Amino acid sequence: MDLLPPWATPARLALQQKARAFAHDVVLPVADQLDPVKGEMPAELVEQLAANGWFGITIAQDEGGLGLGVFDYCLVSEELARAWLSVASILARGQGLGTQVDEPVRRRELLRRSAQGEWIGSIALSEPDAGSDLAGVATTATRDGDDWVLSGHKRWAGNALAADFIEVLARVREPDPEESRSAGLEPFLVVKERGVFPDGMTGTTIDKIGYHGFLTWDLVLDGVRVPGRDKLSGLYADSGASADEGGFASVQRSLNIARVHTAARAVGVAQGALEDTTAYLQEREQFGHPIGDFQALRFALADMAADIAQARAFWCQVAHLIDEGVACESEAAMVKLQATEMAVRVTNQAMQLHGGNGYTTERRVERYWRDARLTTIFEGTSEIQRRIISDRLLPRA
Ligand SMILES: Cc1cc2nc3c(=O)[nH]c(=O)nc-3n(C[C@H](O)[C@H](O)[C@H](O)COP(=O)(O)OP(=O)(O)OC[C@H]3O[C@@H](n4cnc5c(N)ncnc54)[C@H](O)[C@@H]3O)c2cc1C
Repeated sequence: MDLLPPWATPARLALQQKARAFAHDVVLPVADQLDPVKGEMPAELVEQLAANGWFGITIAQDEGGLGLGVFDYCLVSEELARAWLSVASILARGQGLGTQVDEPVRRRELLRRSAQGEWIGSIALSEPDAGSDLAGVATTATRDGDDWVLSGHKRWAGNALAADFIEVLARVREPDPEESRSAGLEPFLVVKERGVFPDGMTGTTIDKIGYHGFLTWDLVLDGVRVPGRDKLSGLYADSGASADEGGFASVQRSLNIARVHTAARAVGVAQGALEDTTAYLQEREQFGHPIGDFQALRFALADMAADIAQARAFWCQVAHLIDEGVACESEAAMVKLQATEMAVRVTNQAMQLHGGNGYTTERRVERYWRDARLTTIFEGTSEIQRRIISDRLLPRA
């Protein structure tokens, strides 16, 4: 992306250049090799991300992080997503995720590990019967002495086996009749070894059509024991929720960050498709001309670039609002909606401009198209974003 003042500080431009070069030189060759075989991100790549400090972009410097904001986190993520969406996504499994424990000494230690990429998690909110409607989560957490015992069925937990911990949203009690349906939902930290599921948990992988680099898991929890100290007071360290807001409120707040992060990732995917298409229009000749000479295709390219620039400006705006502590749930929903729908349109057009070659696994454009398609579904579907926006514009009768 090309930054404009007042965001284009020298430090941010340097960070952007570093992420762009890393995406091009390191991530892209790995993605080209592993995505076609549904491969997992290699441990060395994760270590390189960690060495750059990118698991701790939003963690304070005195906690071992880079001490930057959501803007910088999105800036790096857009660049990484140009090469491979899942590499931009793994960064969200650091950033203080799984550190909201009550004991200050332990919290600091976990934050330090999170910043260094030694505390990489998985998030298990969704269930077979609770996706858009997270208040319908049915996994239970039952007190047993000092421990909690978790039982239920989770679906879509990305990176669960490879993770150091899994954050599980579970119900500790049924809501009272006058309470909202989400009352009684709390996040728990299931600490585990990388590559192993803990006692009481079994997992099967879900065979996806894209978003490779990550394995995505269907998890059955049957009496998973969690020490009392691992009931969390929030989902993200920087969620800003106070303890008395309850776990579900903090989950909702963290979704604002997740939504702008998804928007930036979608812009990155679309940018990758634009760049490949620009090259292809010069390379491919028909009727004795590079196809890039044909006005219809030139104009299509112009529309793609304009769409991307608009979505980028919007994520910059919303990330800035979040960093400034401005309440912006509606704007976070808008940017998630607009940027991800844009990425679907742009990658679809990119495939069209590649002709038959676009509909093969020989070109990257099919990866961008498959990965963009996910962005309107996860982190809250487009319909749910429209619901959030319209509910604020027009309260229900
Ligand atoms: C590849 C992938 C990775 C994921 N990773 C994770 C993860 O790591 N952790 C995790 O917890 N979850 C994850 N998810 C789950 C994801 O967040 C859900 O898929 C998403 O929230 C939608 O839920 P659902 O699939 O149950 O669809 P549903 O909620 O069943 O929705 C089906 C359709 O109905 C629409 N709809 C539902 N309710 C309404 C309404 N009130 N008004 C209008 N339309 C509505 C939806 O928009 C959609 O079009 C992942 C999903 C995928 C596909």
